[in-house]
Amino acid sequence: MVKARNRTVLKFIGGINKDRIGGNCSVLEHTSADGKTERVMFDLGSMFTPYESGFVAAYPNVDEYFDRTDLKTGEVYKALKPVKMLFITHAHEDHIGALINYTKMGYSLPPIKAGGFTRNFIRLAFAAEGMIAPDIEKIKAGDIIEIGDNIKVEAVDVSHSIVDSLGFNTVTYSNGKPYAAIMNNGDFLTEEEMPVGKAFNKEHYLSTLKRAKAPTTVVCLDSTSTTPHSSERIGFRKAVENTYGVVMKHSDRNLIVSPVISRSVQNIAIDVETARRLGTKIFLDGKWLQMVKNALTLSGYTDFDDVVYKGSLQSYLNDKNISKKYIVCTGAFAQGLENYEYNIGIDATSPIPMSSATKMALDLHPYIKIDKNVLVLARQRIIEDINGRTGPKMLQLLASQGAAIVMTPGSRSVSDFEEVQMQDSGHANAEAVKTLMTDVKKVVPNVIVIPIHGNPEQCRNTENIMSEIGVKTYVAENQEGLEVGHGKVINIEPKITPLTWYAVKMVMPNPYSDREIPSDGLKEYWEVTEDYQPLQKICEVQNTPKAINRGKFSNHEKKLEQAEEMPYREQMRKTSQKSKNKKIKELRDLRKSFNKRSR
Ligand SMILES: [Zn+2]
Repeated sequence: MVKARNRTVLKFIGGINKDRIGGNCSVLEHTSADGKTERVMFDLGSMFTPYESGFVAAYPNVDEYFDRTDLKTGEVYKALKPVKMLFITHAHEDHIGALINYTKMGYSLPPIKAGGFTRNFIRLAFAAEGMIAPDIEKIKAGDIIEIGDNIKVEAVDVSHSIVDSLGFNTVTYSNGKPYAAIMNNGDFLTEEEMPVGKAFNKEHYLSTLKRAKAPTTVVCLDSTSTTPHSSERIGFRKAVENTYGVVMKHSDRNLIVSPVISRSVQNIAIDVETARRLGTKIFLDGKWLQMVKNALTLSGYTDFDDVVYKGSLQSYLNDKNISKKYIVCTGAFAQGLENYEYNIGIDATSPIPMSSATKMALDLHPYIKIDKNVLVLARQRIIEDINGRTGPKMLQLLASQGAAIVMTPGSRSVSDFEEVQMQDSGHANAEAVKTLMTDVKKVVPNVIVIPIHGNPEQCRNTENIMSEIGVKTYVAENQEGLEVGHGKVINIEPKITPLTWYAVKMVMPNPYSDREIPSDGLKEYWEVTEDYQPLQKICEVQNTPKAINRGKFSNHEKKLEQAEEMPYREQMRKTSQKSKNKKIKELRDLRKSFNKRSR
């Protein structure tokens, strides 16, 4: 028998993309001297595709790593490079979003390890689709999981905008001795105090790296917010104070609307605390927020319980004892607005899935009418890489109906709305990664950094910071095979061209379905290039039929027509207050005339 050589290979399937963040997924493969190869995977997320592509999301192409059952023939295709275990850092869509879709496509997921909230959320998300959840075991910081004889993974606590976020330090072995250590922080902050749940434990983090005693150590570093001169963090207390200040300044407005990213638990905590200070209760509007609340409760986080209204939105709005209404709703990214703009999928049996705030902006919300009584807290910064131009448009639509808008300043001004910093980024900034890696270097002098979770520009920022403190960096690309060993990271397998993704297209309504049966339509799965050009259709899956409450959407078509006609296409140029007022007046007049016409 030929003696193999020890080899640890790291491959990013997604997550280091050329134009946008998302689709996080990496595979670590270790071959030991006896020729045995074992693989583990980290995260399996969605990437948010540009609207023009026609695909709603894309997923890392993991075809060779999972067994697949052909949906039509039942034939099973064995994985060429099976992974033994999948570790999930946290429950954000760009880290878990592909799980449901791969399952729908007929792939068998390997056993999963994740933190408590992550596990509960994934289970609830599968249940909501009428699907059986994959095998997930809850793990916590300090747990060490052995895969075969030569791979050990230790979990560490990290801070992020969602609770129970974990980082993973993987140590590979050769003849019982440590060979290489690869720390994957996931998305992270170095804050050691968070409003909900456990926080980054620097001492444990550093001791984990030091204890590994590996000749080669790599740290995969979240580069989302490592831009030079990134804004200073204000922290939780100040965020609450600022938000409270905004509400008091607009105290004549008694309906507060706060569109959030539903899984930004640490940011929703700012609304909870503000409401507590105001002596009022919040209402969580949107099924994703309800799911987050349920996952928090299941995970033992119930601090918000006294502040969250229990009951229907109608009874909340009619409750005379609550004078200051505070609606925390889905919609920081204005989901659904683009579908309206492009007139896609509009059919009585297939209402476009859209966020609560988008419904309000389009005047399609069944219970909430936007007017001069409304204050909108746009706490999430507008991120063009993710939500395109729809975020700013949504705010303009809300303003045109009389709402006062206050937003957290972003890297680029999107309007002349009042700006107050009401929350921080969920990712470590330049200063934080510099401080952390300076400390890491003290315990592991030859550490090598691989920037992840960013586009090439963001990864370069991290590289620049590391060069300032004398830390070696390897700027990787998706699909490159990187050998980690002998104190180095070496490219042993160039990037595959064309790099392909799996992408999903929604077909609504379902062309094969009897129109009398409510259906969400079909999902078509395609293999696409990096530029979202379709290569081949892999399969199509009927969405779980769900009963649609048509009553809620009474008047639906009529309102929709009005919304379609609203000229919000060219509104986002920076305008003076005067021209903005003019625009708003135009919008209102137009709206009035449409209302008259449709009567
Ligand atoms: Zn995240």
